[in-house]
Amino acid sequence: MHCPFCQAEDTKVIDSRLVADGSQTRRRRECEVCHSRFTTFETADLALPRVVKNDGERQPFNGSKLKRGMLRALEKRPLSSEEIDTVFGKILNEIRTSGLREIPSLKIGEIMMNALKEVDTVAYVRFASVYRDFQDIKDFSTEINSLSKEKPKKESKKKTKK
Ligand SMILES: [Zn+2]
Repeated sequence: MHCPFCQAEDTKVIDSRLVADGSQTRRRRECEVCHSRFTTFETADLALPRVVKNDGERQPFNGSKLKRGMLRALEKRPLSSEEIDTVFGKILNEIRTSGLREIPSLKIGEIMMNALKEVDTVAYVRFASVYRDFQDIKDFSTEINSLSKEKPKKESKKKTKK
């Protein structure tokens, strides 16, 4: 890879390690000409499904857009960038391994909500409030109620599966 500072053609890798749950390789590189150091991230370029919007329109999957939505929900929350990347990696992984060629945007929203719910309740509620706005307000208030009723350290949840 060319040096982004002086455009020299040779840069060498001085450190390489797995990050984001092993779905990324982080490399420290050094330019052999100007000795600037910089970091690159390597991720597999796997095909992600196309996104089917509520109105039926198909769009290419947009990871940046998804990540922005996630960061907005996590604003000022106590999660490190690395933790955020790990969660985001998991979300992408779930979407990829769904085996779907097309995925409804609603389904992506749900995957995001479930992932946020595991790491940060505030972020989850923020994301859900934006997301559910376009869905069913009633569902959302039920969700909020169930969250506030959830008792910590008690695993006696009743299953209501029909
Ligand atoms: Zn250079």
